[in-house]
Amino acid sequence: MKLILIGIQGAGKSTQGNLLSEKYGVPYLSSGHIFREITRKKTKLGRWLKETLNAGALVPDDTTLEIVFEYLQKPEYRHGYILDGFPRTLAQAEEFDKREKINKVILIDVSDKEAVWRISGRVSDRQDETLQAIRQRIELFHQLTKPVVDHYQGLGMLARINGEQEVNKVFKDILAACNGKT
Ligand code: AMP
Repeated sequence: MKLILIGIQGAGKSTQGNLLSEKYGVPYLSSGHIFREITRKKTKLGRWLKETLNAGALVPDDTTLEIVFEYLQKPEYRHGYILDGFPRTLAQAEEFDKREKINKVILIDVSDKEAVWRISGRVSDRQDETLQAIRQRIELFHQLTKPVVDHYQGLGMLARINGEQEVNKVFKDILAACNGKT
């Protein structure tokens, strides 16, 4: 099973990603997590990524594609994965489509207001979780990731899930969409 999860920060992608990973027995992979790991390294790339992430800006497409593709080549992802946070721009989606055959793209839909409310109420050790960076990420989602949603909708691959429901109901709706029941 190869799934893509799309949604603004706070939509519940990592919660659902982990549940789906367990259900389908494939690893959960978050591009944000990959980047945060690199920022901990005291390398030039690590320092540069740290600045980019803390500003809430997107990592440029070429760097993102290189790093994510390198990860996906690892043997543990051969039989599938639940991918969160990638692709985030149309250019990334088009490159990705050339290489991978995805089963379904899941949009977990929550309003900006609900997402900000959820994020501000949770404890986080993430340095890039300032209100300014969160707002910037939401803004970039509308600007750059909405076209990715439209792209997969046009290809008939998108399932739009109401993320403002109880965790288990969101999960059930995603499974139903994966089984072709919606
Ligand atoms: P996330 O954990 O998905 O909120 O991602 C945290 C940060 O990582 C984002 O604000 C971006 O700076 C970077 N990032 C994650 N995924 C991507 C992507 N697909 N394209 C560009 N930047 C990304």
